[in-house]
Amino acid sequence: MDLLPLFFDLKGKDVLVVGGGEVALRKAGMLIRAGAVVELVAHEILPDLAEAVAAAGGQNCIGDYSAGRLQGKTLVVAATDDDILNRQVSEDAKAANVPVNVVDCPALCTFVFPAIVDRSPLVAAISSGGASPVLARMLRAKLETTIPAAFGELAELLGAHRDKVKAKFSHINRRREFWEDVLEGPVAELALSGQMVQAKKVLQDMLDAPTEDKQVGEVYLVGAGPGDPDLLTFKALRLMQKADVVLYDRLVSEPILDMCRRDAKRIYVGKARSDHAVPQDEINQRLIDLAKEGHRVLRLKGGDPFIFGRGGEEIAGLAAEGIPFQVVPGITAAAGCAAYSGIPLTHRDYAQSVRFVTGHLKDNSTDLPWGELVHPHQTVVFYMGLMGLPVICQQLQAHGMSADMPIALVQKGTTKDHKVVIGTLSTMVDIVKNQQVVAPTLIIVGEVVKLHNTLSWYNNEKS
Ligand code: SAH
Repeated sequence: MDLLPLFFDLKGKDVLVVGGGEVALRKAGMLIRAGAVVELVAHEILPDLAEAVAAAGGQNCIGDYSAGRLQGKTLVVAATDDDILNRQVSEDAKAANVPVNVVDCPALCTFVFPAIVDRSPLVAAISSGGASPVLARMLRAKLETTIPAAFGELAELLGAHRDKVKAKFSHINRRREFWEDVLEGPVAELALSGQMVQAKKVLQDMLDAPTEDKQVGEVYLVGAGPGDPDLLTFKALRLMQKADVVLYDRLVSEPILDMCRRDAKRIYVGKARSDHAVPQDEINQRLIDLAKEGHRVLRLKGGDPFIFGRGGEEIAGLAAEGIPFQVVPGITAAAGCAAYSGIPLTHRDYAQSVRFVTGHLKDNSTDLPWGELVHPHQTVVFYMGLMGLPVICQQLQAHGMSADMPIALVQKGTTKDHKVVIGTLSTMVDIVKNQQVVAPTLIIVGEVVKLHNTLSWYNNEKS
């Protein structure tokens, strides 16, 4: 993050604006709306600007800027067309530790004005960090059309009841649930349709209702897909925003994790650097314990939770304890990697069936049903197969598959590091030896791999 968005309380604070033209008018107007007392300095001041500043209790000073004017100021804005003066203001302000904005010159600023969607007290601020103010404004326009005008009044209503809700529910989770009920229920509906009196009454009724005993929470076992956040389902996203604790492992990419609720507690249960994963029993128990404490627990897993994800084991304990849970399917690595590599897993001409198998061979043993895997017109997808690649290639040939059978190794499929390595059963081991391959990787074996050459579209670097 280049810039941290903060919301500044400027009520009654002295701010300095250098410049007296149109740009200064816009900035001063915004500062005045936020309650600031503006001191304006310029050789010439637009009449509208002078009037606005004076009406808000500020001061118009015709004359030269000098560093002394920064004394006691909370912020300073330079809005002149004189580059030397703008630079001087910026340098003086930085030396005096006064936050400074020089309009249209990010390099001289210590803060920038965002594009604003104002539904006070609800305010959304958007910034592109100076990269593209036009893009920020477009996003603002989009938000303007999607955030109902009544959000401001709704926020005011909720704000007026915060203390009462705090007094009624001492636990933060209970308070959050109460507010979610308010916002997903009739209070919000009434407020948004302009019926504020009714909305207030329903909110009061909800507050007067007797407090229920501490409830057990629930668990959402959610498939996060193979990596690209755009491949999440709507349901996954909704529950990710709802849960207050997240248990995730190595396969869940950072951008996806960032889409969980900001204040949710994150617990990593994958392999640590020491290479020891949290044992499965411990994860199962943790889910039960957290739910019993009343949490809404998100168990976020790469791909689909029921495909080589041990999802079944994780919910068995919950079912036995009578803890409510939901399972949300995700796009499994085979589907994601195949689609993004231009390799249809089935195809009328090449494969009428597809098998997903795990290549994680215990103690290097070869306990896979190799005979079944060499069927003609079948695609075989190996999860967790990188370590076992030499055994896979050798055993498939030993059981009658052609040495020329095409094979694809997909690295970090669907992410920006997506890479496809193509070979045959006889060449693949050597090809991979000369490549830097990064986990996770998926192996696809079958005639359909040939189609990669013509159908590949994503990160289109052929290897
Ligand atoms: N439940 C997951 C699979 C977990 S097993 C799913 O449905 O996808 C872990 C294996 O999945 C990895 O070893 C790798 O073979 C595969 N995998 C998961 N994500 C992948 C990705 N983005 N690219 C390539 N392989 C992936």
